[in-house]
Amino acid sequence: MNEDATNQVPPLQGYDAYGADPWLRAAVRRSGATWIEGAAHGLGRYAGSAEAQAHAASANRNTPELVTHDRFGNRIDFVDYHPSYHALMARAIGAGVHSLAWKHPGAGFSARAVLFYLWNQLEQGTACPVTMTFASIPVMRHAPDIEAQWRGRVLADAYDPRPIPVDEKAGATIGMAMTEKQGGSDLRAVRTQATRGDGAWRLDGHKWFCSAPMSDAFFTLARAEQGVTCFFVPRSLPDGSRNAIHIQRLKDKVGNRSNASSEIEYHATAAWLVGEPGRGIATLIEMAHHTRFDIVVGVAGMMRAALNEAVNHVRHRSAFGKRLEQHGLMQNVVADLALETEAALLAAFRLAAAFDASGENAAERELQRALTPIAKYWLCKRMTPVAVEAMECLGGNGYVEESPLARLYREAPLNGIWEGSANVICLDVLRALAKSPEALDALSKEIGLAKDARIDRVVQRARVALADAQVEAQARVIVESLALAVQASLMQRYANAQAAEAFCASRLEPQGSGRAFGTLAAGTDTAGLAARAALEA
Ligand SMILES: Cc1cc2nc3c(=O)[nH]c(=O)nc-3n(C[C@H](O)[C@H](O)[C@H](O)COP(=O)(O)OP(=O)(O)OC[C@H]3O[C@@H](n4cnc5c(N)ncnc54)[C@H](O)[C@@H]3O)c2cc1C
Repeated sequence: MNEDATNQVPPLQGYDAYGADPWLRAAVRRSGATWIEGAAHGLGRYAGSAEAQAHAASANRNTPELVTHDRFGNRIDFVDYHPSYHALMARAIGAGVHSLAWKHPGAGFSARAVLFYLWNQLEQGTACPVTMTFASIPVMRHAPDIEAQWRGRVLADAYDPRPIPVDEKAGATIGMAMTEKQGGSDLRAVRTQATRGDGAWRLDGHKWFCSAPMSDAFFTLARAEQGVTCFFVPRSLPDGSRNAIHIQRLKDKVGNRSNASSEIEYHATAAWLVGEPGRGIATLIEMAHHTRFDIVVGVAGMMRAALNEAVNHVRHRSAFGKRLEQHGLMQNVVADLALETEAALLAAFRLAAAFDASGENAAERELQRALTPIAKYWLCKRMTPVAVEAMECLGGNGYVEESPLARLYREAPLNGIWEGSANVICLDVLRALAKSPEALDALSKEIGLAKDARIDRVVQRARVALADAQVEAQARVIVESLALAVQASLMQRYANAQAAEAFCASRLEPQGSGRAFGTLAAGTDTAGLAARAALEA
């Protein structure tokens, strides 16, 4: 029997993810980056289209395959991606999702954040090479010859996956290979050996994780006489031959499946010095800092995608005689998810504004330095429960691979792991605050722009923990407190009054709510807050 499919929900397709999102549009107005609106509508319509969503699904279902040798036995180290992956990469790079910040002084970071926020609502595997390419630009400054040859190609907004020398290419992408088997957080343990040659250096060793191995070049770390040093490793050499980057295998990952992540070996691989020998980790810090910024923006976008799916479902699905959105308890769940999503967006765009102002404004620079790891830690911690709760809003339909939530769910923990796992990030924050009292001042000033005793208490909790003899063990308490205080302050200034109050009551007051989503206190206007979460027609 082929029964009609009744009470099923139409897919969330055919909308403009920018135009329909009043929170995002408001963030753009505040940032002064309104010139991005045309491009944002364009990318928003693409992200919301059935065509793009089909590409995202195909690129993740038909995962990349490693082809180590050609049929004649020649080593080729080639990763074969599905055409949908290439279509998505071409679109993202073509739209300047990797490059815009470097081409528009002023509000370039905010404008680019809009595009990256939208992109992460569509597909996250491609977001990885896009981010690494974006974040490579500051490191190039340490190697002027490389910068002169590569920067223009990276910023060309042309996706050209051919494995040929960069001078023959329309555009280039960049990856990074740091992590080795014995440790990814403690990069002082790097064992890959660097030997000085006549021109280029020679690398011998391995990397345990190297994502997007078809990138045109990689920043990598190797041990020279002076210590761990940063090098630039192009995939093709100037004479057209392949550089010896041997891909051993691809990781079979939990999620992020459209993106290849590989184990590689260097065998007399040609590499060029970046920065000073022995200063490799310091040289790469700027790249890591910019990838962390991107994670904040990307995770905020992923939360919006999860919320959108939940809202779409509860609007159309009925149970017990009325639509799910009309049930008080479901309103509480959606309202709570909406608070989390809006607070994440506000944190991401405040951070982008601080990046934009960093050049001329020392306080904004301090804020940007401190807030990047704080927001990276906290948004990543919140992403997984958001994805799970949004999935549950869809019931069984959320737990099948055809649902976009399945992908979001598997993607959710990843941003917390790479680019500094939670503990490492929190310890970084402690170091930054200890090194620069101005950073805490800048944070306190930002937080203090909203006057609320509950926010003050949370900041005080962080200050007490900072003064504790066991401060290291309290690092998560400190970072979580500061993150919540920043979000609460932003909600009070930029969200509507009910949303701000519900956020502060539920997140800052000890008895404000339970630990799961959907536990906002009695008397909260959950129907109104849930309605605010809807995309506009
Ligand atoms: C899908 C994927 C793609 C990746 N792509 C790349 C890539 O392209 N290039 C690249 O270089 N790397 C890449 N990585 C590696 C990633 O950056 C590392 O996995 C990460 O840095 C953690 O390192 P590790 O796995 O060695 O864990 P470890 O360093 O062993 O850490 C394990 C745990 O211990 C905690 N920990 C570490 N030190 C301390 C401490 N002092 N106090 C308390 N806790 C601590 C960490 O927070 C973590 O939770 C990728 C990883 C994944 C999952």
